[in-house]
Amino acid sequence: KEELNIIQGALELRTKTVEDVLTPLTDCFMLASDAVLDFGTMSEVMQSGYTRIPVYENERENIVDILFVKDLAFVDPDDCTPLKTITQFYRHPMHCVFNDTKLDAMLEEFKKGKSHLAIVQRVNNEGEGDPFYEVMGIVTLEDVIEEIIKSEILDE
Ligand code: ADP
Repeated sequence: KEELNIIQGALELRTKTVEDVLTPLTDCFMLASDAVLDFGTMSEVMQSGYTRIPVYENERENIVDILFVKDLAFVDPDDCTPLKTITQFYRHPMHCVFNDTKLDAMLEEFKKGKSHLAIVQRVNNEGEGDPFYEVMGIVTLEDVIEEIIKSEILDE
C-alpha cells in the first residue's frame, strides 16, 4: 500500500507543478533588508525554526537575498550588525523558477545542489497594464519529497 502510494507520487511529479506545492509568500517567514541583527531579530529567526530566510527590500514581493541561519554563527546580538553586512558577505545565490515548472524538473534542479530553496514567480498579465513578474512563494526540496511520499514531513 505504502509502495503504491510512493509510485503514484513519483509518477505525478511529471504533471504537478511547483505552484501546487509552494509555500505562499504570505506564509513565508522573511526579514526586511534594513533589519538589524539585534537580540530581538535573532530570537525571532531562531524561533521561526527555518534554515533559510528570504530577505526583501521595501515590499515582501521584492526578495533580494537569502539568509542562512548558519550565517549567524559568528554574529553577536550586542553588536547590532545590520543584516545587509551579513547578506553582502555571504551572497548566497538566489534561485528563481516559474510557477509552471514540473516537479520532476524541479527535483532535478535541486539535485544539482546549488540551493534547496527556490523562489516561485509567475507572469501576471491580468488587468490593463503590461505583464509583470510576480513572486508567488517559495518551494524547497522538502515540498517535492512530500509529494512523492504523500505525507507531511514533521520538522525536528
Ligand atoms: P527548513 O530546513 O527551514 O525546515 P525545509 O526545506 O525543510 O525548511 O522546508 C520545510 C517547509 O517549510 C517547506 O514546506 C518549505 O516550503 C517551508 N519553508 C522553508 N523556509 C521557509 C520560510 N522562511 N518561511 C516559511 N516557510 C518556509
